[in-house]
Amino acid sequence: SSKKTPFTLSTSKGTFQSTYLIIASGGLAIPKIGATGFGYEVAKSFGHSIIPPRPALVPLQFEHWERDGFNTLAGIALPVEVSTQIGKKKTITFHEDLLFRHKGLSGPAILQISSYWIPGNTITLNLVPDTDLATKLCEEKSGKKMQLDTALEKLAPNLPKRFVQHWMSQAPFADFAKRPWADVPNKILETLGKSLNAWELLPSGTDGHRVAEATRGGVKTKELNPRTMESNLAENLYFIGDVVDVVGWLGGYNFGWAWASAICAANAITHK
Ligand SMILES: Cc1cc2nc3c(=O)[nH]c(=O)nc-3n(C[C@H](O)[C@H](O)[C@H](O)COP(=O)(O)OP(=O)(O)OC[C@H]3O[C@@H](n4cnc5c(N)ncnc54)[C@H](O)[C@@H]3O)c2cc1C
Repeated sequence: SSKKTPFTLSTSKGTFQSTYLIIASGGLAIPKIGATGFGYEVAKSFGHSIIPPRPALVPLQFEHWERDGFNTLAGIALPVEVSTQIGKKKTITFHEDLLFRHKGLSGPAILQISSYWIPGNTITLNLVPDTDLATKLCEEKSGKKMQLDTALEKLAPNLPKRFVQHWMSQAPFADFAKRPWADVPNKILETLGKSLNAWELLPSGTDGHRVAEATRGGVKTKELNPRTMESNLAENLYFIGDVVDVVGWLGGYNFGWAWASAICAANAITHK
């Protein structure tokens, strides 16, 4: 191609030549509606590094979900605190709603944490945020004749009855669920409280790009001019939106990023 129109695009509608090229081909989320790795291939052909693309804002799956009967809780939603480790001493936490599904967990809490989850790491769910259940269960039991499962429903009113019944059917709580609260040993009450305040789960994977709302990874940001989105490796070549290694939180931030990066590139080209 000539110096003035260095880019040649061969398409099903013909061949086009241009001075500038903006790659806005998105990430891999939902191939069924057109997502492809085209942008990564273009980037690589100009020498760019690609941070391996992975699904983001996506439901999580767990081994033994069905074996442990959690699939029977499908449809239950509750506000939780969810966290995961993202560095040696760093964790990230979200306060959002959790949704039980037949295949695992979803809802805003899980979609948010999925964008940070590192395969092999656990996530921790506090199902009764703002209440130290172990302390309450031990300190308030004196003289209480109500059954332990009823006590739990009272202390944690955000937990649906169906959820409490399932939780209390697990070992070691099942043997104590119908006993008077006051008669339950503190050791069991502490274990019960902690299990709900810090439920540690090891995801086996995600639902994948098939249903993800965004893509982690993509064109390495360090190889782009952050003011213009122009490639540092090829003049007049720009990358914007989800093809870049940027992923936003729920709440419109991915559209925000796509539009903001587009404006940066458009302004830069206008003023060239
Ligand atoms: C179900 C769903 C819900 C979402 N909800 C929200 C939301 O509420 N708020 C929010 O901020 N973000 C949301 N997002 C994310 C948001 O849609 C994306 O971050 C944003 O659209 C990215 O813009 P983009 O221009 O980079 O890529 P895209 O919008 O993905 O556009 C890329 C386009 O390039 C086309 N393309 C790819 N390869 C080729 C090829 N080889 N040839 C021709 N065309 C090609 C694709 O078909 C697509 O049309 C959602 C995403 C999904 C999937």
